Amino acid sequence: MPDTRNSMPECNDDNDVFGVSEGECCGCDSFARLNELGLCEECAGKLERDLIRERDWDYSALAYGVLAEKREELRRQIVAQYGEKLELITPINKRQRRKKSRKRKRRGGGGNR
Ligand SMILES: [Zn+2]
Repeated sequence: MPDTRNSMPECNDDNDVFGVSEGECCGCDSFARLNELGLCEECAGKLERDLIRERDWDYSALAYGVLAEKREELRRQIVAQYGEKLELITPINKRQRRKKSRKRKRRGGGGNR
């Protein structure tokens, strides 16, 4: 049996370093070392904060493993420090993906203001 660890990389086209490569950042178009989302370190940080602002905890590495009540605290800190405005429009288009399978409409009463 040939072993099949030589699995096909699907999104990295010409780089065999898994997860990390160099190229143009999806967020700021500068040439840099990119993470698996195609973002430079700086934009990855912005994305993290955006995810937290949006309460997309599932996507956030920062919020990973953080208790729900602590997450709100984390978000407050981020907002206090960096403001409430999103810094990066997410290049991974998770919003599009989400639209397809949205479960419930969010009512306006989130207490955002
Ligand atoms: Zn960038």
